[in-house]
Amino acid sequence: MATKARKTKAAVKKLRTASEVTWRDMEVGGILTDAGSAALRRTGDWRSERPILDKEKCNKCGLCWLYCPDAAVDACEDGYYEVNLYSCKGCGICAEICPKEAITMIEEEEE
Ligand code: SF4
Ligand code: SF4
Repeated sequence: MATKARKTKAAVKKLRTASEVTWRDMEVGGILTDAGSAALRRTGDWRSERPILDKEKCNKCGLCWLYCPDAAVDACEDGYYEVNLYSCKGCGICAEICPKEAITMIEEEEE
């Protein structure tokens, strides 16, 4: 168990300092063993769709912020919300939950 914890800490340290991470740095099955470590991972790279937020329709209810499983929706000072694409996995929950249909999922394009 101690060895596993050391390996995880080493992997997290690498994630903090290196831009290149291979599958060898990950746990078997891609599981996360440390609470709160998602912020250290560029989960946005998994995305095939991205949410686009229309401020004209938004009523600032905050449900997208509340329901996002990756805490990828940030609250802005003006009361609106914006998506942090570093973390957003493109799951679409925010678009589903939005009562004003202010969020549209669009397909990512290859760069
Ligand atoms: S859920 Fe929709 S209406 Fe509510 S804050 Fe988010 S974008 Fe705006
Ligand atoms: S698509 Fe999913 S991960 Fe991205 S902001 Fe919406 S709820 Fe969060």
